[in-house]
Amino acid sequence: MYHLSDRINSMSTSQTLAMAAKTRELKAEGKDIIGLSLGEPDFNTPDFIKEAAIEAINENYNSYTPVDGYVELKDAIITKFKRDNNLTYDRSQIVVSTGAKQSLANVALVMLNPGDEVILPCPYWVSYAEIVKLAEGVPVEVPTTVETNFKMTPQQLEEAITPKTKMLWYSSPCNPSGMVYSREELRALADVLAKHPDIIVVSDEIYEHINFVGGHASMAEFDDMYNRVVTVNGVSKAFAMTGWRIGYIGAPADIARACNKMQGQITSGANCIAQRAVITALEAPVSSIQYMIDRFKSRRKLIIDLMSEIDGFKITEPEGAFYVFPDVSEFFGKTIRGHEIKDSTDFSMFLLEEALVATVTGDAFGSPDCIRFSYAASEAEIEEAMKRIKKALSE
Ligand code: PLP
Repeated sequence: MYHLSDRINSMSTSQTLAMAAKTRELKAEGKDIIGLSLGEPDFNTPDFIKEAAIEAINENYNSYTPVDGYVELKDAIITKFKRDNNLTYDRSQIVVSTGAKQSLANVALVMLNPGDEVILPCPYWVSYAEIVKLAEGVPVEVPTTVETNFKMTPQQLEEAITPKTKMLWYSSPCNPSGMVYSREELRALADVLAKHPDIIVVSDEIYEHINFVGGHASMAEFDDMYNRVVTVNGVSKAFAMTGWRIGYIGAPADIARACNKMQGQITSGANCIAQRAVITALEAPVSSIQYMIDRFKSRRKLIIDLMSEIDGFKITEPEGAFYVFPDVSEFFGKTIRGHEIKDSTDFSMFLLEEALVATVTGDAFGSPDCIRFSYAASEAEIEEAMKRIKKALSE
């Protein structure tokens, strides 16, 4: 019997990964589960990126890299930030990490002291709250609803700020809601932050390219915010490279230096082969990955059309990423096929057991009225999943 730390004992398991594990387990038992729980593109990494990795192996890239990333990769990131976001960073402001998840963990660990508050508009990406807590910060949830397109208003932000507020973290396009903050909406939030100059913002832009409404905006674009924003990005989603584990930040130099110091003691830097491959990925024009974005767009239409036919699902059309986040509170308090549905976790389990469709409870994202569907799945799987759910609910 080991006495594990309070730190790990108080941490929740990632519910998206837990659902993925449960799905694998049920599949291994021979159950025909359709997995719509995982935030992972169902495409292969494009060949031109794989070839760059093979070349890197053959060229004997096998040593430790600089802790904050190869200079050539940092330069590719600097060019990407300029090309796609009109953001100017120099090498001292870039840190490459083992996925955007590690970038976020670095930032939390270097910025937060015990009791510092971090504002998280709900729904937020599942790991934000746990990462903040790991760094002994306090997540402050700001609820939003399907009726307001899951967007935090300036007034809500103002009301959430206290003398202990250290940071604001959000993703746009958002996982799990798919909503995208427009430049005007970000400016309105920045106007509130202008009155509180010590608050630092984490702008998680990992779904930047998977945007169906256009006009991706970064908080760091505003001159008065530039020195207060950590822009987080990575290649997992748009480049179908989840397993390669590369993410990065553009940040004020002091924060970047601190993240470099942190990962110097924890990982010594990201994988060398993956870093070489990501140089090629980022240098390629966005048109080279457009075929995946187009497929996500047509699947979004498919899943929205089919879900709209299911009574009780309240949906707002997602503008980016590859998720739909319906409000399913209509089912709470009902008993369906012998399952008592008290909350979204019960509803998600009901769908798994009775429709054999894996989703994720909104509880994991701070929005307990909703559940998340990932449509990074084939058209046939989406059609079959919606058919099964409709049937399970109609009986
Ligand atoms: N940020 C958001 C909003 C995400 O959805 C994810 C992955 O699901 C990440 C960060 C982490 O990405 P990575 O695979 O680069 O660690």
